[in-house]
Amino acid sequence: MLWKDGVPAEVRAGRPIVWWNDRGAAPAPPTVDVDEALREVAWGRPFLRAIFPELEATEGRIESPLIPLGGGGWSVPGPLYAKADHALPLTGSVKARGGMYEVLGHAKEVACAAGLLPEGTSSELLASDAARTLFAARRIAVGSTGNLGYSIGILGRALGFAVVVHMSRDAKAWKKARLRDIGATVIEHEGDYAAAVASAREASRADPSSYFVDDESSLPLFKGYMCGGLELADQLAAFGLVPLPERPLDVLIPCGVGGAPAGIAYGLKHAYGEAVRLILVEPTQSPCVLIRLAGLGVMKSVYDVGLTNATLADGLAVPSASELACAMAGALIGSVVTVSDESLLAACRAAWRDHGLKLELSGAAGLAALGAFYNDLRRRGGPDPTATIVWTTGGAHLPEFEFRAMLAAAGTSAAQVD
Ligand SMILES: *Cc1c(COP(=O)(O)O)cnc(C)c1O
Repeated sequence: MLWKDGVPAEVRAGRPIVWWNDRGAAPAPPTVDVDEALREVAWGRPFLRAIFPELEATEGRIESPLIPLGGGGWSVPGPLYAKADHALPLTGSVKARGGMYEVLGHAKEVACAAGLLPEGTSSELLASDAARTLFAARRIAVGSTGNLGYSIGILGRALGFAVVVHMSRDAKAWKKARLRDIGATVIEHEGDYAAAVASAREASRADPSSYFVDDESSLPLFKGYMCGGLELADQLAAFGLVPLPERPLDVLIPCGVGGAPAGIAYGLKHAYGEAVRLILVEPTQSPCVLIRLAGLGVMKSVYDVGLTNATLADGLAVPSASELACAMAGALIGSVVTVSDESLLAACRAAWRDHGLKLELSGAAGLAALGAFYNDLRRRGGPDPTATIVWTTGGAHLPEFEFRAMLAAAGTSAAQVD
């Protein structure tokens, strides 16, 4: 049963659901210059290679492998792969893509304005003493549940900026500690993610030397994630995989505020058009993008429909969607699947046991959604996919004690995979 505003009763009740975004003809999304974004990413590589030894081997590329997941117990009608952003260099989460794009872009702008980067010079100049002195007098602020702050913190600190990360009550203690270890200032808030972002925005506005990375509406973050979608298309092409509208590619992406999945979706739609289906996955208590899309603009937050935003998946504990993400990619999203914390625990455990993938709960959401999605697709008579990609968005940098505790919790949880 649908409510007047389009938010299904199951969503309000906090039950897992597969929601289909089939509300007539979608408006064409705004256009982003894809080639320009790819050039920006390429421009940053010499600098990244010069300051991060772990990027020496990849020549400054921050990219992730595509890992075939054969032999697991996943119910998928065709080959299954993980797009392994949980193992991205530097941060071990998808946030490396957006964070690097935005912080490097900001550093470039500041350096250019100061006359330190004449047209056509290499990004390596960002590591010069003159640039460091310039950056040291400036601040970058961000609100985060953890992973975005870390990504901004690593690069911001490496450039010499002061970095201030406002964190929500969902942020894990070890995520705060690791930020302080790299010299970032952590400000802890009692409120949720939206409140932490609002505080960061306020504090940054009052300080002319501060630049604010706005996770709720950032085009640079979006472009960084978009390049991840293009990267996947290149990898699939190298595998000889060509999706068609009647045999599409299915891509399941964990979704918090919506920025990362929206950017990825945009890149993939650019590459594949009708031949890709984008499926976002949100926790049953934090389906903010589903509510924004199904709620027809009336319903804005998960609290508006009686949900709590309480989930063990800290990276997805977001009450209100990014308006920018919804405007850019809302029409590109085919469906949203919601998953329980128990199914996230089960998916993490299975990913480790069957494939040796070290995922955090947020990063396993795509796996947790597979069974429900394909059951519903079959019921609707949709075409089988040519392949299925689960975007594993975070986890490789989880401390061992944290990972073990999660596996133990998964072992005592009642849920089974699928
Ligand atoms: C941030 C994050 C996401 C979701 O990205 P949004 O831009 O918030 O939608 C998914 N997984 C992990 C591990 C994350 O850190």
